[in-house]
This record gives sequence, structure tokens and C-alpha cells, in this order.
Amino acid sequence: MRLAVLKERRAGEARVAATPDTVKKLIGLGLSVAVEAGAGLTAAISDEEFAAAGAQITPDAATALNGAEILFAVQAPEPEIRTQVAPGTLLVCTMNTFGNPELVPALAAAKIDAVAMEMMPRITRAQSMDVLSSQANLSGYRALIEAAGAFARGFPMMMTAAGTVPPARVLVIGAGVAGLQAIATARRLGGIVSGTDVRPAAKEEIRSLGATYIGVDDEESAKQTGPYAGQMSEEFRKKQADLMATTVAKNDIIVCTALVQGRKAPVIVTSEMVAAMRAGSIIIDLAADSGGNCADTVPGETITTANGVTIIGHRNWPSRIAVAASQLYARNLLTFITTFWDKDAKAPKLTETDDIIKGVLLTKGGQIVHPNFIPAAA
Ligand code: NAD
Repeated sequence: MRLAVLKERRAGEARVAATPDTVKKLIGLGLSVAVEAGAGLTAAISDEEFAAAGAQITPDAATALNGAEILFAVQAPEPEIRTQVAPGTLLVCTMNTFGNPELVPALAAAKIDAVAMEMMPRITRAQSMDVLSSQANLSGYRALIEAAGAFARGFPMMMTAAGTVPPARVLVIGAGVAGLQAIATARRLGGIVSGTDVRPAAKEEIRSLGATYIGVDDEESAKQTGPYAGQMSEEFRKKQADLMATTVAKNDIIVCTALVQGRKAPVIVTSEMVAAMRAGSIIIDLAADSGGNCADTVPGETITTANGVTIIGHRNWPSRIAVAASQLYARNLLTFITTFWDKDAKAPKLTETDDIIKGVLLTKGGQIVHPNFIPAAA
């Protein structure tokens, strides 16, 4: 059975869905692997390294796809590539289904069996296949590094013969996977760090990293016990806005990571809060792809406000640390296919009663099978 890996074609995507290490292991399962020439270059992997691992390097996407029954990708392929994918092919990638409602019906119509890795259930068994976690962790680190690069004062307190430079004050909004890594990185750089979240479990996690917890503790936040936060009520948002109004301006760097699954990101830092910040302050908005946690974020751009605050709203943060992100993402995909590999048939066996498959399988045999996407009966 042949597995294809193509060059990612979407703007700003530097990751690749396989590495020489995962290619070797895929071949060990009994697969042959075809890699489109140049697929790994933006993640610092040459064609020669893929070839040395046993991959066949093909001059273009069509040749890689010729005879392929499995396609590994980072992002869902564009329509012009999808038309070259044979019916019955298993596509494993991230789908961004909420931002692209036509995608799932189009995959079903093309008879592509589609696995959306970002819909991996958050259960212990699935942790090693959880692309959201592997990529968010790196994004949180990268966010801090970019904040440090943009901040013209430095992070640690520096007592020198010429005077003292005060430490940077950092507030991290949203203490999930990305936020906790941002907190840890800010602490390592020597900043004075605080963090906020709506889930009570986050409180101890923030403190365990040596940061100060700031937050609204009420009956509503006490109910946020699942792995994802829910959409908070107007009343809660008002309490949070009052707290943030006094907190944001005291900080030099704000790292925004708050997300609510399947919805636009909550706006937590308002324009008034930005206007009250000191010149030279930095806002890093990791939620920019979902609209942003800061009202003034322009997704995909870096702007400086009239009062001198720089707001960095890059899209696709994992792509900004593409070497490590590809390595971990490729591992997540390898683990997925290995977990559902039928050794005798030398083919994947996606048992539809399995909780993981129930969570990630969108289409099969030309039908939409995921309950979230089956159109309501007329
Ligand atoms: P996420 O990316 O969905 O959200 C980021 C953070 O934003 C979350 O902590 C969320 O509570 C917070 N948030 C949402 N709305 C907010 C608001 N209005 N104000 C402040 N904060 C807000 O979450 P994530 O990082 O993917 O993970 C969340 C949790 O799930 C973490 O505790 C993580 O450890 C856990 N998790 C478990 C597993 C597993 O068991 N397999 C895997 C991954 C993550």
C-alpha cells in the first residue's frame, strides 16, 4: 500500500506531515512512501534525507498520488489537489472544518475517507496523537520568543553599574497547553508572570509554574471542569472585563491564548485596555486565527497603535517553529496510523465503534459519517 506526502501549498504553511524518522517507521509497517520533491524544505528536511529513509521522491503531486491509498498532510489539500486524489483514499490531516463549511461535503463527494486530526478526543489513550496539544505547546513557546524579540527592554531584572533595568511583567490569558508553555518560557526568561483562565483546574497549574493566578472565581467558572472552556455568560464577561481593566495596563506583555472550541475566540482585551497600556508594550495574540482575544488585533498582521503598543496577530503559529512542529506532528500521524494498523492485512483498520475513530472520522465511502456534519433531515 502506498502513502503519499505532498508539499503543503497553503500560504504561510512551512510544516510537512512526515520526517525521515516517521518515513522509516511507515515503511516498517509495510507501506511504500512517496514524497513530493521539496516537501520538507521549509522544515529543513532535504529530498536526500527523505530518500535515505526509503521514500520515493516524486517530481510533482500527481506522481506522488499515483496509486496512493493514504495521504498524509498538515492542512486539507486545496480543491486542485483534491481532484487528483483517487476515490477511496484515506486522508489524514487537520481540516479547519469550522472555517471551511464546504470541505466535508466536498470530501464525501470525492469519496475521500477523511480523518480530522484536530478532532482527536481528549482522552489519555489519544494523547500521543493529539495534534492540538503538540502544536499548541510549541506555539506558546514561540509566542514568548517573539514577544521577547519585539520588546525593547528585556525580560530579566538587570542590576548594573549604570543602573537597574526592571523585569518585564507578563500576563498570559488562557492557561491551556499554549498558555502554560508561554508562562513557563516567560519565567525562564526572567519575567514576572501572571496567568488567568476560566477553568478552576488552571489555577493550580499556573501557580505550579511559579506564576501568579488572577481570575474571576464564581459559580460559573467552577462549572468549567471539562478539558475545554465553554462560552461564558455576559455576566461573567463583565466581571472578567472589570478585572482585566485594572490588570492589563500593569503589564508590559500580554499573551492571548483563550479559545472556545468551535467558536470565535472571546474578546478579553478591549480597545480601551490597549489605550491604557504603556508605549512599548506588546500584545501577542495566539487566538488571531479564531478572530483574536484582543479587539484591536488584525489577524495576519503586526500593528502599532497610536499609543505605541505593538499587537502581533500572526496566523498559524506552529508554522513559525516548523522544524519542531513538523517533527511532533509527523509523530502524531505515525502513532495514529500505527494504532489502527491491521498487521495481517497491512492496511489501516478504522473501527467505527472506537472512540477515537468516532471523534476523528468525517467521511467514509462517499458518506458523511461524523454526527457534527451530517446535514439535518429536511
Ligand atoms: P484551548 O486551546 O481550547 O483553550 C486555551 C485556554 O483558554 C483553555 O485553558 C481555556 O480554558 C481558556 N479560555 C477559554 N475561554 C476563556 C476566557 N473567556 N477567559 C480566559 N481563559 C479562557 O485549550 P487547550 O490548551 O487545548 O487545553 C485545555 C485543557 O485540556 C488543558 O488543561 C489541557 O491540559 C487539557 N488537555 C487534555 C488532554 C488529554 O487528556 N488527552 C489533551 C490536551 C489537553
